[in-house]
Amino acid sequence: MRALLFSSQHYDQETFTQAAKGSALDLHFQPTRLTLDTAALAQGFEAVCAFINDELDAQVLERLAAGGTRLIALRSAGYNHVDLAAAQRLGLAVVRVPAYSPHAVAEHAVALILALNRRLHRAYNRTREGDFTLHGLTGFDLHGKTVGVVGTGQIGMAFARIMAGFGCQLLAYDPYPNPQMLALGARYLELPELLRQARIISLHCPLTEHTKHLINARSLAQLQPGTMLINTGRGALVDTPALIDALKSGQLGYLGLDVYEEEAQLFFEDRSDLPLQDDVLARLLTFPNVIVTAHQAFLTHEALEAIATTTLDNIIGWAAGNPQNLVTG
Ligand code: NAD
Repeated sequence: MRALLFSSQHYDQETFTQAAKGSALDLHFQPTRLTLDTAALAQGFEAVCAFINDELDAQVLERLAAGGTRLIALRSAGYNHVDLAAAQRLGLAVVRVPAYSPHAVAEHAVALILALNRRLHRAYNRTREGDFTLHGLTGFDLHGKTVGVVGTGQIGMAFARIMAGFGCQLLAYDPYPNPQMLALGARYLELPELLRQARIISLHCPLTEHTKHLINARSLAQLQPGTMLINTGRGALVDTPALIDALKSGQLGYLGLDVYEEEAQLFFEDRSDLPLQDDVLARLLTFPNVIVTAHQAFLTHEALEAIATTTLDNIIGWAAGNPQNLVTG
């Protein structure tokens, strides 16, 4: 069976080629992002394998279906970028990787917290310039601080366990409280109360119509001044211009982002020779208390291997009439 992988980077090629050894799959790698303009590249491919910034709206899906595609195999857990109703109408099956390594994302969220708190991004540059002063680098002990976890599924739980290990007090918000979280000693609160009490807030819920701009000007006003916000979930969970206002006023003391609402045009590409056209991102990058990473939280060897293995199993299972990890909406 022929499958085309859109948005595939060299590390995808390596892991997928390795994982496909001995199978009958014929994999083709396409670095280009899937859009309406590039969908024609999938002509004749029964399976199309897509990543998070590939476009899978109704028009793109129609073009894929017309070209003979029958299966959309997502290399991600999130499926907020797929028009599932259109896929169903067109007879396209959609499969995903429900879990690959919650630790990869949780540990990256913690890396952002530690780097922001101890200003590692500034210290790194300073010592390389021969400046060994410490002014402006004072952090705070994580031990005893209150951490709010928004979304306590697999990644939120992995994150909470690490923060519990630091000796933090855990607060949680999730419409479906997780008994494992309660066993860690966490308290579930309504979101406004969590926002008021937590010193560090980390977002681990999916992007849905209910969670879009969950963090906005109104919710930011509820924070204690100087709160740290970490978003490794999806960019649109936060209203980015509102974050900029909160950073300017000091309401937000630290911001760590691995995801950005407008990332599709930017992330995963080397644009260092080009002027940055996105003024909101450009402004964000001027703050000394902001770290932006380009959607790399998933990027560990373990996660890549798990993504490749599950995706190929998904394709093989579907082809054999035994579909698994179907997304039904
Ligand atoms: P999961 O399904 O295990 O957990 C999601 C949790 O969010 C569930 O407990 C659910 O009840 C909760 N939730 C749903 N609606 C909510 C709301 N309105 N408010 C608060 N909580 C809500 O998913 P997961 O594997 O933990 O992944 C979480 C998210 O992380 C994914 O949806 C994806 O967007 C993101 N993610 C990011 C990366 C990255 O590289 N940055 C990688 C993987 C996943």
